[in-house]
Amino acid sequence: MRYDQNDLSKDFISHAPGYWAADPPEDWDHHIWQLKNRVNSLSQIEEHLTLCEEERSGILLSGTKLALSVTPHFFNLIDEADPEDPIRRQVIPRIEETLYEETDMADPCGEDSHMPVPGLVHRYPDRVLFLVTDRCAAYCRYCTRSRVVSGAGEQELETDFEAAFRYLEEHTEIRDVLLSGGDPLLFSDQKLEKILSRLRSIPHIEFLRIGSRVPVFLPQRITPEFCQMLQKYHPLFLSIHVNHPRELTIEVKEGLERLANHGVPMGNQSVLLRGVNDDVETMRVLVHKLLMCRVRPYYLYQCDLIQGSSHLRAPASKGIEIIEGLRGHTSGYAIPQFVIDAPGGGGKVPVNPDYVIHRDEERILMRNYKGKTFEYPEPQTPASTALEPAALVQ
Ligand SMILES: *Cc1c(COP(=O)(O)O)cnc(C)c1O
Repeated sequence: MRYDQNDLSKDFISHAPGYWAADPPEDWDHHIWQLKNRVNSLSQIEEHLTLCEEERSGILLSGTKLALSVTPHFFNLIDEADPEDPIRRQVIPRIEETLYEETDMADPCGEDSHMPVPGLVHRYPDRVLFLVTDRCAAYCRYCTRSRVVSGAGEQELETDFEAAFRYLEEHTEIRDVLLSGGDPLLFSDQKLEKILSRLRSIPHIEFLRIGSRVPVFLPQRITPEFCQMLQKYHPLFLSIHVNHPRELTIEVKEGLERLANHGVPMGNQSVLLRGVNDDVETMRVLVHKLLMCRVRPYYLYQCDLIQGSSHLRAPASKGIEIIEGLRGHTSGYAIPQFVIDAPGGGGKVPVNPDYVIHRDEERILMRNYKGKTFEYPEPQTPASTALEPAALVQ
């Protein structure tokens, strides 16, 4: 059994101080301390974990493509006794990252070709993705934007803020702006507020959202002051990124509750990852814990074809199986939409289990979550019997 069942506890547990304590202890709760004390070298990791050869070489090579960096908070979630630990797989580089499959891509979602101005991706008619920074609190080894994120690779994110704001002002069809990167929550409150207030000064922008893994990597950042600042820019949604139930600790739950209490609706985006969350039971515990944190599971992503991520990819059929194992069996609010971001720039495509067995003009034949079949007759309005509008008036 690859998964330790104790790992799938529904309990919210604090892992601090874990591998090391802050000195003085209250420093632990400060996000600046967490950022300054990030683990980013082989020697630091080896103080705490016994590495295998694949990891050791992966760490030595990580500086050339996607930097290695893990906050002490997140590092503490790693179970030293388990070489296959699902937290470890997400953040500790392996030599497999240097293996590029033929179908791998540097920009799997075709973002660079959809940027009308540097840093702004305009793919869908009414909304844009605004990449405001290339830095994160920690780096996910399967990052879809590793070509520009962390500062280690050859390509750089060169967001032109003034040009982006001008584009948004001129394009009145844009009603939804998604701030991402990198992680926008690495900005100071003041810097993020400048961006939010500028966006709010554009009348046709109705809806703001931020994509961030900071509530999970660095829950200490979710201060009351930060939440009060966000509250001024509603409607503002937050998309977080949790892949495994153990990531939802007491500290993370408290941060998420604080955000919810300040009126920030939250969704979660998980990436389907081999050996991390590619089974129904893990995902069931995860989505239930998310609801307990007042976060609605939003998307489950098929892992993008990012270069050097093939060892972390699970087949799409596994994603369908997971959705099938949830739908009907548990709360509808707990079920994310499984999507594949179409390689080359097609955007997100929903992929669902087949519940429709047959469909024609007269009926839909379908099956329910237990496999039982049912028929729904389509409305039939033959020309001879249809009511004329005039007949209704009389
Ligand atoms: C994911 C994404 C969005 C937002 O998509 P939703 O389905 O509305 O959440 C917008 N723009 C780009 C380029 C994206 O990749």
